[in-house]
Amino acid sequence: MLLDALMIGTWLTLTGYTLWYLLKAETLQPLTLDDLALTWRFHKHQTGCTASRIDGLITKNEEVVGFRCDCGYEFQQKRLISQQVPRSQFSRENSGSLNVTQEEKLPC
Ligand SMILES: [Zn+2]
Repeated sequence: MLLDALMIGTWLTLTGYTLWYLLKAETLQPLTLDDLALTWRFHKHQTGCTASRIDGLITKNEEVVGFRCDCGYEFQQKRLISQQVPRSQFSRENSGSLNVTQEEKLPC
């Protein structure tokens, strides 16, 4: 009887942790300058904000992860831990072959 209760409790805990990890756990992501400008413009457009500048940048590990608007709005770039980070379209292999192609064309 006690063992059954212990097993059920363990499974419920494991299930709850798994659901939290897959659906709720988030991590901060660095913002590029373009992302920052676009997000701020989007905020101004959506809310009708009339601020003329960003009040401050939010950083973590010396990387910009968000900003504070003059109006008090605060944005932080977050993504789910379980979500895959999209790969850039140009890998090193592609850029290497591109360079070879350009080198081959130059002597002609
Ligand atoms: Zn604002």
